[in-house]
Amino acid sequence: MRGPVRFGKPSPLLSGMRCIKCRRLWPINDYFFGCPDCADAGTPASVAPDFASLPGLGGLDDIACWLAYPGSSHLGEGNTPLIDLPDLAAQHGLTRLRVKNEAPNPTGSHKDRMSAALVRRARDIGVKKLAVASSGNAGASLAAFAANAGLGCVVVTTADIGQAWRRAIELHGAEIIVAPSAAARWDLVSAHTMMGEWYPATNFAVPAVGSNPFAVDGLRTIALELYLASETDPPTDIIVPVSRADLLWGVARGYSDLASAGLVSKLPRIHAAEPFPRISRVLAGEDYFGHFDGRSPLRSLAGATVTYQAIDALERSKGAVVAPSTDETTAAQTDLARAGLFVESSSAIALAGLHALRKRSVITDDASVVLIVTSHGYKEDRWQN
Ligand SMILES: [Zn+2]
Repeated sequence: MRGPVRFGKPSPLLSGMRCIKCRRLWPINDYFFGCPDCADAGTPASVAPDFASLPGLGGLDDIACWLAYPGSSHLGEGNTPLIDLPDLAAQHGLTRLRVKNEAPNPTGSHKDRMSAALVRRARDIGVKKLAVASSGNAGASLAAFAANAGLGCVVVTTADIGQAWRRAIELHGAEIIVAPSAAARWDLVSAHTMMGEWYPATNFAVPAVGSNPFAVDGLRTIALELYLASETDPPTDIIVPVSRADLLWGVARGYSDLASAGLVSKLPRIHAAEPFPRISRVLAGEDYFGHFDGRSPLRSLAGATVTYQAIDALERSKGAVVAPSTDETTAAQTDLARAGLFVESSSAIALAGLHALRKRSVITDDASVVLIVTSHGYKEDRWQN
């Protein structure tokens, strides 16, 4: 009954979009405000592509067929290295420590997996102009992938956007609009999206629900690659830098899918590292759809919102959350650099998080840990504050 896989078209295995909270299955669509029922109830939650079944996974070439929109771009996203760091493992008293390094992606971050997936969706539904609210990696990534696909792109940003990112976005031919505040960026994207002019890659809903579900779908590939690269020594614990938890959720969902397909019997715990307490406050009893003020120079992670994605991912993978200090993250950035990896400060928080989880005895001596490093450090300006 189901047709063959066609790259650039929805997967024949895609059965709809399922709310990650109430579990209701909706027809295939974008749902920028998440599940309509949960939005009406005042407890917003994203929807995610739902699959009637999952195909086999014998190698990297099979990963494209696990996506809502099967395929890959011409820019070469994904298949990033898993790097052993035995000296750092010994320093932390661990059996094994590895880094899944997303910096080798085409524009230097994990956002390329999202952009590639989003472009396939956008082309299928005839979108002409993509939009992203970003002051960094997401904007540069979407600008590149839009250029490669021949689509228009608007990056709505704030005045403090880094010079390297601004130059890359401009050279890719994307339009930059500077909004007076992070919140104003979302208002602008919302207005143009509602008029049907822009197709958004990132969240603009308040309370937040996470990025475009077809973009988040692309992040599941990190879990699939980790599975293929570590079949003989699978990780027991994975640590992920977290803002609105697209990445955390994508990795957790990828592992859940591997379990559903019978490929993984024991799930790794997937932990969140955040720059100041947000998810931590929610787990201590606050509503996840509140406002969480905090200051951090880690721009890629410094939002004031929590999404239900974060809660779902931590429950799904029995993970913990830690909020290392900026000083601890700075020290971790140096430690990774001394091991040969110059990473964005927002990525180094994963190693700072490991330190905190060791101190709390959440991660034990016999653990095999993977840190997700999201971006290299070359694009980052010196901190302003
Ligand atoms: Zn729902």
